[in-house]
Amino acid sequence: MSAMKCGRCGSEKVMPNLRIRDRYTAEDLEVEVERHPNAMIFKKAHKEALRATVCGECGNVGLSVENPKGLWETYTQQKNA
Ligand SMILES: [Zn+2]
Repeated sequence: MSAMKCGRCGSEKVMPNLRIRDRYTAEDLEVEVERHPNAMIFKKAHKEALRATVCGECGNVGLSVENPKGLWETYTQQKNA
């Protein structure tokens, strides 16, 4: 694996792709985009699990999702009517 470097301190002690779980439900936190945000029902939400990249030296945290294209696709197809 190629070494990743922390954007803040430059350390290579970087842990990618860590899960972020709710303390009480133990479920992954998610980012959500609704295709029909103004609909009463059937908002057709697209959800992607959040992942964290954490520096083991300074604690810097970066967030990402595994499938950003799926979110973007839903975002660009949003209808506000
Ligand atoms: Zn760092």
